Amino acid sequence: MKLINIEQRFRDLFENTSDLIHFLNTEGIIQLVNHAWLNTLGYTFDEVKGTSIYNYIHPDCRDKYHSYRERIIAERKTWEIETTFITKAGNKVNIEGHISCHYENGIPVYTRGIFRNITERKEAEAHLKAIFTSAPDAVIVINQQSTILKWNAKAETLFGFSAKEVTGKNLTEYIIPERYRESHQLGMQYFLKTGEGPVLGRTIEITALNKAGKEFFINLSISAAKITDNWYFIAFASDITQRKLTEEALIKKEAELFNSRIQDQKKEEFISIASHELKTPLTSIKAYVELIGHVLDGNANPDTGWYIQKASEGIHKLENLISELLDISRIQAGKLPMNLTTFNFNDLVDSCIESASHISPLHKIHKKGNADFDINGDKERLEQVLMNYLTNAIKYSPNNDRIIVNVVREGDEIKVGVTDFGIGIPNDKKEKVFERFYRVENIHHSVQGLGIGLYISSEIIKRHHGRVWVESEEDKGSTFYFALPLGALNYETSNS
Ligand code: ADP
Repeated sequence: MKLINIEQRFRDLFENTSDLIHFLNTEGIIQLVNHAWLNTLGYTFDEVKGTSIYNYIHPDCRDKYHSYRERIIAERKTWEIETTFITKAGNKVNIEGHISCHYENGIPVYTRGIFRNITERKEAEAHLKAIFTSAPDAVIVINQQSTILKWNAKAETLFGFSAKEVTGKNLTEYIIPERYRESHQLGMQYFLKTGEGPVLGRTIEITALNKAGKEFFINLSISAAKITDNWYFIAFASDITQRKLTEEALIKKEAELFNSRIQDQKKEEFISIASHELKTPLTSIKAYVELIGHVLDGNANPDTGWYIQKASEGIHKLENLISELLDISRIQAGKLPMNLTTFNFNDLVDSCIESASHISPLHKIHKKGNADFDINGDKERLEQVLMNYLTNAIKYSPNNDRIIVNVVREGDEIKVGVTDFGIGIPNDKKEKVFERFYRVENIHHSVQGLGIGLYISSEIIKRHHGRVWVESEEDKGSTFYFALPLGALNYETSNS
């Protein structure tokens, strides 16, 4: 085999390498360039031969390139350089390489440059940089000594430290709360030994420190990458303080709700027990008062008769109160008994008006409309509702004597309205008066009550598949309504 001479070998290498090579005279005039150089920049040798290298360097890089060449020639050094060429078509080509100078008898003769095309790498770097800077999360890169290498703009806002302040510093001392520092170091050592890290590749919730030394919650995901024998860790962090606060508020609210439910339950138990306990002695008081009345029958002096009457009225009030309390506990237990019959509605309205007139002889109760039809329902319970409306109308209109009971048949339902011209209800309280234990606080009028009558009424009407509502104007009066369906109702008779 014939050996090719050394010059041929170098020529072959020069022409076939993928590196861009040029030889320039000391003035920067092109003497020789290789194929890779011409191919990359899109010229033929004839086009570039004898022209200045600066024609092919991007205007922004010319001065720097020039000063490098001057120093290389003067200082006899080889310099690494990164610059940008321009192709014949006007495109940029990023290159990196080194320039050196050849001397003969101590006199510089030519400079040579050998470069690699790094355009693709530069573009990839630019993309990565764009992702890094515009990432919605804080992105931090550390090495295996926990030294901070990269710290993006979001990390600056999240932790308060600028990239300049922390780059090159140990992460542990900056954003890791003191109590986690040891485990961070141990975790790192364990990972370097075993390649295993419990926090790697997962998202965890943890606290971090900001520049002000304040601890706050972050979501943290860390991944590891090995580059030429060294491990690098990239951490993504986002602030979850707001979410944590909302979660905490929710937990607190739930706890409060739970407590108030327990309290409600206890209140209900108390009401149920107390009303039963009150009922027994009251029954015997009532029996004894009746007995006294019976024994004295006609023989008592007027004063004693009056005392007995007052005692009976008090007993009656107490009975009503206790039975309302019992109703409340029955409603809560879903056990309000219903006794369904078909009856004439007129009878019900008349008997209620009659009873109400005894409560307050001062008030004149007018009946309007026609109530003369049969209706299917629990007569006693519906009486209880109308009586509640009427007694309220009396109680809450102390300075006006007119009350109107209006019965209207509308389509498939009857509508009953009780109108008074009393204190009325403020607009924002109207919705609430049917709630349990709700009473409108009124500084001008102090009427006694427990705030349960309307609640029981609304529950009774609900059991009849009807509706309740109120129309009212403060200081002008109110109309309380209930409406009942007329058709044959298929009620559950109890336990509903
Ligand atoms: P009570 O009258 O025992 O307080 P109710 O449940 O019957 O309980 O009524 C609830 C509240 O609704 C009353 O405390 C009162 O503030 C208001 N209210 C009821 N009826 C009237 C009315 N006719 N006029 C003005 N306010 C009324």
